[in-house]
Amino acid sequence: AADPVTVLGLGDMGSAIARAFVERGHRTTVWNRTASKCRPLVEAGASAAATPDEAVEASRFVVVCLLDSAAVDEVLGSVTSSLAGKVLVNLTSGSPSQARSNERWARERGAEYLDGKIMGDPPDVGTSNVSLSFSGSRSAFDAHEPILRELGGVAYHGEDAGLAAVEFLAQVAMGYELLIGFLHTLSVVHAEGVEVEAFAERVAGSVAAYPPLLTMMGKAIGSGEYGPDLGSLRVQAALMDDLISHRESLGVEAVRMREVKELMDQRIADGHGGQGFSSLFELLTKR
Ligand code: NDP
Repeated sequence: AADPVTVLGLGDMGSAIARAFVERGHRTTVWNRTASKCRPLVEAGASAAATPDEAVEASRFVVVCLLDSAAVDEVLGSVTSSLAGKVLVNLTSGSPSQARSNERWARERGAEYLDGKIMGDPPDVGTSNVSLSFSGSRSAFDAHEPILRELGGVAYHGEDAGLAAVEFLAQVAMGYELLIGFLHTLSVVHAEGVEVEAFAERVAGSVAAYPPLLTMMGKAIGSGEYGPDLGSLRVQAALMDDLISHRESLGVEAVRMREVKELMDQRIADGHGGQGFSSLFELLTKR
């Protein structure tokens, strides 16, 4: 029979997680601060616990998915029943240091700790459109990988409990870095009277070339051998002043573009004008 599981927190994400477990035949115990959110899960076959203590006692495998780490501290801090021998899986978004402190907290109470970070939308839980990064207890991950896979694609990043959060924050930040650049660029074309929707479609076509470029740049940085990706810095830098003044003439901010130009100029001055864009990394790590 499928292992019993407990889910603490029935927001959009916690509810989707609890539902996935119920649907896959786990005896599922749920708890939520606002008790009414248990009702749909109970109707689907879960049991509602009146307190976090009662919920923790019901299963060896305990999943936590709350708004943030302050909520996690509050809820776990209220638990007085024994955690010895439990597997605590925290799927709440947060920072590496919070994950590491949760891991110490759990270890002191004799529980194994897995920190998990979710990327994807609640309705997609249980499909490959959701991916989860884990770190912390390797033995807990190995023993429970099948049940974790019931939620989506999974990856294990290492024993340091903070590593899943490192991965998650980096992936989220990458998205924001890309998308804020996209929005500024759309404001340039908009200011020039170009139809934004059609331009977005054309850009979507061009970024198809990016996945292999990112992999290649990662390799260049890993090996320290910088080829002329995107062309040589010398040629790229020659365009930057026009690019910056175009944006500024339209009142569009150019902070990032000025940063790029400065980095290129520095690399060229250092005698690396024949290298490509990825070589700017050398300057970032020296800051
Ligand atoms: P919701 O806002 O829908 O739910 C928040 C949950 O946290 C509720 O169960 C709420 O209880 C509980 N909560 C908040 N504060 C406290 C507290 N002080 N004490 C007890 N319980 C508390 O958020 P989600 O379910 O969407 O998100 C949960 C986690 O999943 C977050 O860390 C989020 O970043 C992550 N996540 C969410 C995604 C999404 O698209 N929704 C995507 C990827 C990750 P109550 O019902 O009583 O208010």
